[in-house]
Amino acid sequence: MAKFAVIGLGKFGMNVATNLYENGAEVIAIDNNRKLIDEISGRVSVSIHMNSTDEKALKENRIQDVDAVILAIGNNIEVSVLTAVILKKIGVSNIFAKVDSKVHERILELLGIQNIIFPEEQIAKQLANSLLSSSVLEYIDLSSGHSVVELVVPENWVGKSLQELALPSKKGINIIAIKYTSLNVTEEGENVLDKKINDMPGANDIIHEGDVLVLIGPKHKINELIAETSREG
Ligand code: ADP
Repeated sequence: MAKFAVIGLGKFGMNVATNLYENGAEVIAIDNNRKLIDEISGRVSVSIHMNSTDEKALKENRIQDVDAVILAIGNNIEVSVLTAVILKKIGVSNIFAKVDSKVHERILELLGIQNIIFPEEQIAKQLANSLLSSSVLEYIDLSSGHSVVELVVPENWVGKSLQELALPSKKGINIIAIKYTSLNVTEEGENVLDKKINDMPGANDIIHEGDVLVLIGPKHKINELIAETSREG
């Protein structure tokens, strides 16, 4: 069984630790805040109230034997850096460090930490990329905090009915219309592609390759969906 230690149980560390544990990994969770240790107890294999810069305590708890350490102290560069140095010293080779700033990132890079996670920056980049992705044809912000987008359907939606897709219940997003092209034959016997719109889409309508969905929903939910579908596609 894979074994991890998560040091620092802020929002990030807490989520990583409990997710790893829920997915069957062995997880040691560490924080110097007693309240957080109490909060996570029972949701990981072991929770330890200690200072992460305490080399002796780290060794006694055999942190050097885990497959990877997730160092999730973003709000205190000094403690994060010192902990990283000690982790390397006791022989932890696989460290994933979460940072909250560029300076923090740079210092850990200089220390040779290879896996650095800067969540806000990475998510912002991902979102910007997906908004610029070729699958989003239109993006309109409404003053209500909602957005309307035209999205080329991702591959894995093809063949599904709107009911199966369940965007309203699963994502809080409504489908206003489906734009599609249909192949028609003119009186002269020529094949032509007609652009059509189904503006009353129903639960049984099936999504075809190349269809464009016109969607409306809260801006953050639309952004999440775009990010998800661009990853899947
Ligand atoms: P997030 O941004 O994910 O909420 P933070 O970087 O704010 O995370 O959280 C850092 C966590 O690290 C806090 O829970 C804090 O108690 C813990 N922490 C800070 N210093 C130490 C230390 N010396 N030893 C152990 N845990 C620490």
